[in-house]
Amino acid sequence: MLLCLLCCLAAAAPALAAQDYEWTADDYVWTMRSKRVNGVPIGDAIEYAYPNAEWEAFSTGGDIYGRCSGGAEGDSFSFFVRFLNEFSFEFTGCERNGVEQENPSQLTLEALQAYAEDHGCDACAGLGYTDACMNCAGSGFAFGKQCLACGGSGRYLCKTCRGYGVMTNDYTRACPFCDGSGEWGACPTCGGSIYVLQNGMLLMCSNCLGSGVDTCPYCSAGGIATGYLVNS
Ligand SMILES: [Zn+2]
Ligand SMILES: [Zn+2]
Ligand SMILES: [Zn+2]
Ligand SMILES: [Zn+2]
Repeated sequence: MLLCLLCCLAAAAPALAAQDYEWTADDYVWTMRSKRVNGVPIGDAIEYAYPNAEWEAFSTGGDIYGRCSGGAEGDSFSFFVRFLNEFSFEFTGCERNGVEQENPSQLTLEALQAYAEDHGCDACAGLGYTDACMNCAGSGFAFGKQCLACGGSGRYLCKTCRGYGVMTNDYTRACPFCDGSGEWGACPTCGGSIYVLQNGMLLMCSNCLGSGVDTCPYCSAGGIATGYLVNS
């Protein structure tokens, strides 16, 4: 009877989501533009310095590269990055007015710096937070536990700049790997049945804590809310 129950529940586990989703050229461009350095997305910084900037991603020799170019006659640029995975890359080259630069990330770093100087958040004076948490008096702990009001940080994130200290675009997007559900198929520990049999006792599964599903590894690492991707 028990076994049968487990089988039935396992069969009712949610179907697999789009786990075989292939990161597209547009997605790689998103990775480049949304990558935050000291709170500033590279896309915001480059497009502020060079409003005509163009972005592309392509594969060559088994590697995937991103390219950004723009500027004007006498002040043109292009830089290349090589992707290490969907969410990270390294700068591999940069040309300014046709001259190869010694440091491939220098132009981007300068643009990030200029953007940050001109877009500081007034509401928090660039700090990223506004007030100390009243529930824990800023300590991060209340009643012997991590403070529930502030999540243990001891302060409230600035709502105006969303904690970055600079005014930036929001590149947050739904996770395509799990179709924004935050789920990754049935829990491998309990098979979606929610319970596990231990020493003859039926216990709540400690892996999924009773949800019956595994958490999507792509968006759960992103950090804001499962089902969504950020890239900082
Ligand atoms: Zn608190
Ligand atoms: Zn702020
Ligand atoms: Zn489970
Ligand atoms: Zn996901």
